[in-house]
Amino acid sequence: MIKKIDHLGIAVRSIEESLPYYEKILGIPCEKTEEVPSQNVKTAFFAVGEVHLELLEPTSPESPIAKFLEKNGEGIHHVAFYTDDITGQLSQASQGGCRLIHEVPFEGAANKMVAFLHPKSTHGVLTEFCTNKNPS
Ligand code: ZN
Repeated sequence: MIKKIDHLGIAVRSIEESLPYYEKILGIPCEKTEEVPSQNVKTAFFAVGEVHLELLEPTSPESPIAKFLEKNGEGIHHVAFYTDDITGQLSQASQGGCRLIHEVPFEGAANKMVAFLHPKSTHGVLTEFCTNKNPS
């Protein structure tokens, strides 16, 4: 079951150059930065109430974020829904006719398991499901 919007993913060319906007102008301190080698990205997290912003900077031209920036420029990249059952959520989407980018969840940033639905099946919004890696 989907519980909340966990975070919004925002593609940027440079986290370093984007930080002053979030930290100084908006006044939201960066919680942490983290590299996700499997996706060739560097991430920076900001808490806005219960929702986080996840800045995504490509670390290689092969990164899906590099391709997104080339096509669309900087901006909102994905919406991530927190679910307590990521496998069930994926099979529900698949049974409903959604194309999945990932059939099997993989390890994302912030100690979460994540998987994406294809934006062609989600009316243009790249959709991520995420759940805690070690549910307590
Ligand atoms: Zn994300």
